[in-house]
Amino acid sequence: MHPNIWKPFTILKGAQEPLKVKSGEGLWLTLEDGQKIMDCISSWWVNLHGHSHPRIAGAIHRQAQTLEHVIFANFSHEPAETLAARLTDKLPGNLNRVFYSDNGSTAVEVALKTAWQYWKNKAQNRKKFIAFEGAYHGDTIGAMSAGARSVFTQVFHDLMFEVEYLPYPETWIGDKDIGSREDEIIEMLENKFNRHPEQYAGIIIEPLVQGAGGMKVCREDFLQKLHWVNRQYDTLLIFDEVMTGFGRTGDWFACTRAQVEPDIICLAKGITGGFMPLAVTVSSDSIYEAFDTDDPMQTLWHGHSYTANPLGCAAALASLDLMEENEASFRGMENIHREEILSIATRDRVERVRVMGTIAAFTLKSDGESGYFNKIADEIKKKCVRYDLLLRPLGDVVYLMPPYCITREELRVVYKNLGALLNDL
Ligand SMILES: *Cc1c(COP(=O)(O)O)cnc(C)c1O
Repeated sequence: MHPNIWKPFTILKGAQEPLKVKSGEGLWLTLEDGQKIMDCISSWWVNLHGHSHPRIAGAIHRQAQTLEHVIFANFSHEPAETLAARLTDKLPGNLNRVFYSDNGSTAVEVALKTAWQYWKNKAQNRKKFIAFEGAYHGDTIGAMSAGARSVFTQVFHDLMFEVEYLPYPETWIGDKDIGSREDEIIEMLENKFNRHPEQYAGIIIEPLVQGAGGMKVCREDFLQKLHWVNRQYDTLLIFDEVMTGFGRTGDWFACTRAQVEPDIICLAKGITGGFMPLAVTVSSDSIYEAFDTDDPMQTLWHGHSYTANPLGCAAALASLDLMEENEASFRGMENIHREEILSIATRDRVERVRVMGTIAAFTLKSDGESGYFNKIADEIKKKCVRYDLLLRPLGDVVYLMPPYCITREELRVVYKNLGALLNDL
């Protein structure tokens, strides 16, 4: 690799030489030496329809020849307007106000700033956020503050604001007492609210699946209980669906699968099918109303130079078309995962098997510390290419999150090769 590149999320000393990718088509990536591997993680969870999809590529091409970008403050453009209308059609009824930015972290920053200022605008002094243990909301300071504390955030501790944490009610196939664990967490939440009424600005959660925290799955029931308590105590519920949005959980959004209406939703990653950086933070009408004044002190002062980039919006519109034309591709994957993962689930070292929509994951028992720095992850990252797989375990958690274009047969091959890889560890 060129020495002038500083790689993200990489311990520099002793880092493996990265594999250079020449091209991509559908599920497959072609490496420089000509080998083809299957992208089982949708390239950090962004790719929905496979690589280099001609429909999205064509939409970007046409848009680039029409209008590549324009300032989005006192100007507007068709792709952004159409996208806002189509997104709000798909989202729960109350979520109607679309704020554009360009990545998941900024979508979360906007959500936190909106929630914070909402209460100020309503002359209430609510200063606390509740988040979940193991949460990941992005790497900018605010988004990092709302996430779990870890080795990744430790050095920035003094820069971050504090939040209060609740356990994430993770569950797995065969888990028997999840209902009572959920109730305990809900009780902890009610206790917080009772002890400090009207101090909490909001709760932020990755609904149904905690991504970077280890593909931990929770139930729809928990989100419904959480929503109910939130309503009783009149705080804001923020769904960070940066990863779970756009079909990942087998429905359009985690909130539609769980039939819960959050007050704010953050969307990024899959929004353009993995082609362009784009994000939205969508707020309810009642939140928007609190900002709809001529008072500069009650205005949301936030924006980015690439806000609502037309190329990103055009890609997002093409991606929505593809999703609408083939809903079965993301709705049907859960059943295939459930069948195919049986061949893996019976192994001694495999525990806590979970499936949610297009995502399947399990924990691999191994020596050494559990969690992100488990050595097994490095071993799998090194060896997976031999089995034509692109995998990137989160410590001892191995997961599959393929693009929706994967065929049943290809997914079967992925599981077969993964089984062979596990034998080789
Ligand atoms: C990836 C992710 C983010 C951050 O998105 P970036 O585009 O990487 O900044 C935020 N929240 C969740 C749930 C994510 O998975």
